[in-house]
Order: sequence, then structure tokens, then C-alpha cells
Amino acid sequence: MRFAIATLGCKVNQYDSAMIESRLAARGLIRCEFDQPADVYIVNTCTVTDRADSESLRLARRARRLNPKARVVMTGCFAQANPAALSRAHEVDAVVGLARPDDLERAVIGDAPERVMVSNLRKVRGEIELKGVAMEGQTRAFLKLQEGCDQFCSFCIVPVSRGASRSVEPRRVIDALDQLHERGFKEVILSGVHLGGYGRDLDPPVELAHLLEMVAERSPIGRIRISSLDPEELSDGIIAIITSSEKFCPHLHLPLQAGEDRVLGAMRRRYDTAFYRDRVERVLEAMPDAAIGTDLIVGFPGESAEEFAASIKFVESLPLAYLHVFPYAVRAGTTAAKIPGKVSPAEIKRRAAAMRRVGERKRTLFMERFIGQTLKVLLEEQRQDGGIGGYSRNYVRVLTRSPSDLSNQEVEVEASFVEGAQMVGQIVSVQGRDAARAEAN
Ligand code: SF4
Repeated sequence: MRFAIATLGCKVNQYDSAMIESRLAARGLIRCEFDQPADVYIVNTCTVTDRADSESLRLARRARRLNPKARVVMTGCFAQANPAALSRAHEVDAVVGLARPDDLERAVIGDAPERVMVSNLRKVRGEIELKGVAMEGQTRAFLKLQEGCDQFCSFCIVPVSRGASRSVEPRRVIDALDQLHERGFKEVILSGVHLGGYGRDLDPPVELAHLLEMVAERSPIGRIRISSLDPEELSDGIIAIITSSEKFCPHLHLPLQAGEDRVLGAMRRRYDTAFYRDRVERVLEAMPDAAIGTDLIVGFPGESAEEFAASIKFVESLPLAYLHVFPYAVRAGTTAAKIPGKVSPAEIKRRAAAMRRVGERKRTLFMERFIGQTLKVLLEEQRQDGGIGGYSRNYVRVLTRSPSDLSNQEVEVEASFVEGAQMVGQIVSVQGRDAARAEAN
């Protein structure tokens, strides 16, 4: 049986798709591309905006056209949040919500007891399958230790689509890190839908700081990254653990969302700009070369031209390494969708472009600081022309060359110059050996 899977949305969805794929492969199913004839098409949907919903349905129609006899199975956030909308579509054979991997497998092989299988994840505690997965072409593994969210930021549908916050017990996290080490992974990204909410649902509750302390002590993996933490959840304790352990990469992603206090309030974020600045400064005091990145939404309903100008000024004043800029897009069912004062699409586009320009300047400035210095880079797949890329511990994208295959090796690269979004440099040492000797071997 051949299956194809299309994934919409964020890294968490990509992670879930990789999990689905590995389960189906273990059952002997063969994966093919989504534009090829398959027996089953799976659409791992996203519902972050109304547009994402339409795209999920478009993919279902496309699958049906590719093979009218195929089974079309919808899963992911849209399936979870609005199964009725998907089950109305005649192209769709089955709708399976999140946290039901066995039912998804049954739907794929045509053995599902029902056409729509969705639990209320705000009431039922869905299991989180724990398994490290690597994204295509990457040597880093993602480990999802937390699902769902209880925060209800006004623009976000995640607490509905992914349900209540739930976490994996520390002991299982440590076992998973051991297994990833045995499989040869040298870098792991601890991820979650709202990682800052980690452990509050466990009995007894566990603080994220406690988990990170255990990871620092017991993880055999030498490069650990934390995917994202909301600013108010980055405690001094967490900063101290990350700073004092060599295993944690000096890289944090702290979503700011808006650089203006009234807008932050309307977004129902739980900090103000002064607090955010304090967190960034605290991290950089302890780790001056750390990369701090952020997410920003521009054109939030009611965001005036003056507020946007203040936001951009605030972001410009922060020593950030990169920005991910999201033009606001309406999501029905969120509080923000009902806020008056919608910003016009053209103006949202203009604001996104302006904020992205700030982001590009910041990224270049951050990278230029390391020219002439040595960066520890975990190399990814070797290209046929001898080029090979990877990320430094502080999240600089580095491109270098190697005559021998050094995939999945941590090497030291002397940074020479910045080219677009990446640093170009020369390998000077391969895990303790010098580069000349490595070449001779
Ligand atoms: S904390 Fe993150 S996941 Fe939770 S509601 Fe806010 S934006 Fe969404």
C-alpha cells in the first residue's frame, strides 16, 4: 500500500507527520510524493488562519483528482478544531483528530470504526507519543515533550485545536534522549506547542527548570536547544541552568509578538515591553554571544500607525539575532477576529515588509560579529559539489566545504564573510582533529 502525506503549518505539524510516517513505514506501507498516485492520501491540516483551512480542503480535492479510488484522510489541527467542516466535503473519507494515532492508522488501512474520530482535547487528556524525529536533510532531532496550551492569547486558536496543555514525564524525556544518542544524534531540539507550560499538568507538577536541570546532568547529547519560550516563562533559574551547562546551546527563541504595550495587552500576552527587554538583557549578560530570536505579528486589529512605529522602534533597539515576521491573518473563533479596527491587507503587507527589513539588518549585524572567529558547527548533508552547511551552537547558518563526507560531525569553522542569510567559512578542526589531518585521512 502506498501513502502520501501533505503537511501544512508549523514545525509541530511537521513533527507529527514524521511520526505518522514512521508508524506507517513500520507497518510496511510505502511513502510516495503527494503528486504521485497513492492508495491513501493523508493531509495533516493547519487551522492557524482561515486561509490555512481552505488550503487543507484544496489538498483533499487534489488528492481525489490524483486517484479517484484513493482514501483521503484528514488529520491535524483543522481536523481537530472543526471536524464537521471537513466531513461535509465529499472528497474526504475520514477525519481523525490529534492524539489518536491508532485510529489514524486504522483510517489509513481502511479499518476505521467511524468516519469522524475526534476527542475533546480540552477534556480528555490525549497521550503524547514520544519519539525523536529528524526533519528531511537535517541532522538535528526534534523531541516534542509538551502538547496543547492553556493561555488563550487573543489571536491564537491553538488552545482549541491542540487542546489542554499536557507534558511528558521527565523520566521518559531522559530515556528518549538516551535513545537518540544511541541512534547517533548529536543535537536535539526540545520542543512543544507551548513549552513554557511544561509540567504544570503532571502529578506532582514538575517545573521546566527542574526538567532542564535533569537534562543538563544526565543527557548524553552535547547540543540541546530549546525551541521557544514565552518571555514570562524564562525564569532566572532557567537562564542560570542554560548558562552553566555546556550542553545547552546559547540560543533562545522568545516570541515578543508586538513591541507596544497596548497591543500586547489586546493580544492577551502576559508581559510588557520593559519586561521583555529585561529578559533579553539578562540572557545576554550571562551569554554575550547568544542568539535571541523572536516572532512578531504585524497589523493586529486596532494596531495604529503610531503603535506600529513604536513597535518597530522597540524591536530596532533590542539586540536580537533574527525575527520571524507574521502578517496578521484572521482566524475565526479567536477573540482577535472580533476586535474592530482591522488593518487593510495592503497596510499589513507594508508593515510586514518594514519589519522584515529590520530583521534582515539584525541578522546580518549579528552574524558579522563572528567574522574571524571560530564557530562550532554541526554539519548536515554533504552536497555533491563538496559544499556542506549546518548551524553553529548560537544558530548562525554556516556554509563550508569539505572533500570528505563530514555529515553529522561537529566541526570548527573559521568564519570568513556573510553571504545573504549565511556565514561562509573554512573548517579548521574536526572534533579535536585539525582539518589538514582530517583531509589527509
Ligand atoms: S501561548 Fe502560544 S500557543 Fe498558547 S495561546 Fe498564546 S500563542 Fe497560542
